[in-house]
Amino acid sequence: MSETRETRLTGVAASDGVAVGKTFVHTPGPLTPDRETIERGSEKSELARFDEAVKIVVRKLTETGESLTASGNEKEAEIFEAHIEFAEDSELRDEVEARVKSLESPEAAVLAVGEEFAAMIAAMDDEYMAARADDVRDVASQIAAELIGCEAAGLEALDRPSVILAKSLAPSDTARIPKGKALGFVTAEGSKTSHVSIMARSMGIPAVVGVGEILEETLGAETVAVDGTEGYAVADPGPDTVSEFEAKAEEVATENAALEEFKNVEGRTKDGTRIEISANLGSAKEAKDAIAYGAEGVGLFRTEFLFMERDELPTEDEQFEVYKEAVEAFGEKPVIFRTLDVGGDKDLPGVEQPVEENPFLGWRGIRMCLDVPGLFKPQIRALLRAAAFGNAKVMFPMVADVSEVVAAKKVVDECRAELEAEGVSFGDISVGVMVETPAAAVCAHVIAPEVSFFSIGTNDLVQYTLAADRGNEKLEHLQSADHPSVLRLIGMTCEAAKDAGIWVGVCGEAAGEPDLMPKLISLGVTELSMSAPRIPRAKKVVSEVLYRSRFLTAQYTHATHRLPTSDRRERRET
Ligand code: PEP
Ligand code: MG
Repeated sequence: MSETRETRLTGVAASDGVAVGKTFVHTPGPLTPDRETIERGSEKSELARFDEAVKIVVRKLTETGESLTASGNEKEAEIFEAHIEFAEDSELRDEVEARVKSLESPEAAVLAVGEEFAAMIAAMDDEYMAARADDVRDVASQIAAELIGCEAAGLEALDRPSVILAKSLAPSDTARIPKGKALGFVTAEGSKTSHVSIMARSMGIPAVVGVGEILEETLGAETVAVDGTEGYAVADPGPDTVSEFEAKAEEVATENAALEEFKNVEGRTKDGTRIEISANLGSAKEAKDAIAYGAEGVGLFRTEFLFMERDELPTEDEQFEVYKEAVEAFGEKPVIFRTLDVGGDKDLPGVEQPVEENPFLGWRGIRMCLDVPGLFKPQIRALLRAAAFGNAKVMFPMVADVSEVVAAKKVVDECRAELEAEGVSFGDISVGVMVETPAAAVCAHVIAPEVSFFSIGTNDLVQYTLAADRGNEKLEHLQSADHPSVLRLIGMTCEAAKDAGIWVGVCGEAAGEPDLMPKLISLGVTELSMSAPRIPRAKKVVSEVLYRSRFLTAQYTHATHRLPTSDRRERRET
């Protein structure tokens, strides 16, 4: 066996697949210089290093600007031009030079000068200029990062296919990654249902999350191998490990080829019960890929990404265009739009959100929307207008009480009346509710008569039922819908739906887990919505399920039935 400097990072298997690639370290926020001072006599060479770092940053910024211009994003390209101007600014150079001459390290100097300039700009009585303070900090960090030897640029600057190493990745970070440039993710924080994992799965990118502090020791690694199926990564893999990963990649490719034939079949159990297999989308742009994977509709369109990827709220017309594009792409197939669900781990530029001690138990989802009509109504109006062009449905997130459903439906009625009075055309839209709080599941019989369908959000339902933060990697063993408490709540929801004559889908990540599919179907779920790359396998699994074996239901939901929670804990500890 050849000698290597390999480091193994064990974490959560967040998104299937394997990859080996060069690393890109994403370190947002303030950087800490590794040295504050330099030795006397080295001033000249340290200044030369600074000039070289500026050159590299300018080259990278120029390349990013050019590729944005080439893809028609001139406005974004202008931001990079301003960044270049600051990087080459003579005042910045002079200040850094003065500090280096008094033996401050160039990395500490550029960060300090960047901070001084940013503070000056932020204090200006001009909103536009004040907003530029972050740009200045950003450029100073990029130069410092070059000097320190790590890349601090935003993920939009990712210019070669890489494995991204980060402490954590916010949904807005992942949304900015240029297509095809992320080979894999390895993060210190996060769990299977945190949004970075969901994004990774929908982008088909192998990911290992929640590896913990060991990540910091590997930030200098040149290459990393990721196994998102097994949940581990290897930093600086030796030749044997690289060959092993290449063999695994081949296996995955063969397996995917065998699933090809399921892309175009209808979701049906072995004994013929129709189960719709749909996709979870974060944008209309993903529709084409989802259809190619065999999506029979959209079970969850997360509208918040449209709000988060920009600095201002999208207008009604802008939203209408996006929703219309999505429903048109799917023709007669249903597209279920989930109204804005921010709060928790999702921030919203443009709406002031209070700092909350427990944001997951806070002002989020339908609670926020009902309080801010200026946010909610344009969205509902845009959805009603888009419904004229396809099969649009709408559902409300984070419902805990029937009164919220009644109030939200009232807003839908008001918007319909407004559009009618204005002579604006709109279509029929059926209204559903996400069941993702234990309260909604327990009171499903009260809510069901008010709506046309339920969609169970197992990600939140699990965290609220088991009181286990979905983003906390230490609680991974509790992050499963395969727990009697959760299965019982799903069973109760399905019973209530059956009594009211409405259907039930699952759009949380559990819908795409092969082991859970037979259980969900036996409980009465007739639609499973998941990250698009999981669809072919889901159709295959469903085709092997016997719907008639519903007697199994009692076994799944019986309170005394032991599920492998303790086994999972043991596995985690070994
Ligand atoms: C869920 O909670 O299961 C869900 C689908 O919503 P999100 O993951 O966006 O919170
Ligand atoms: Mg949710």
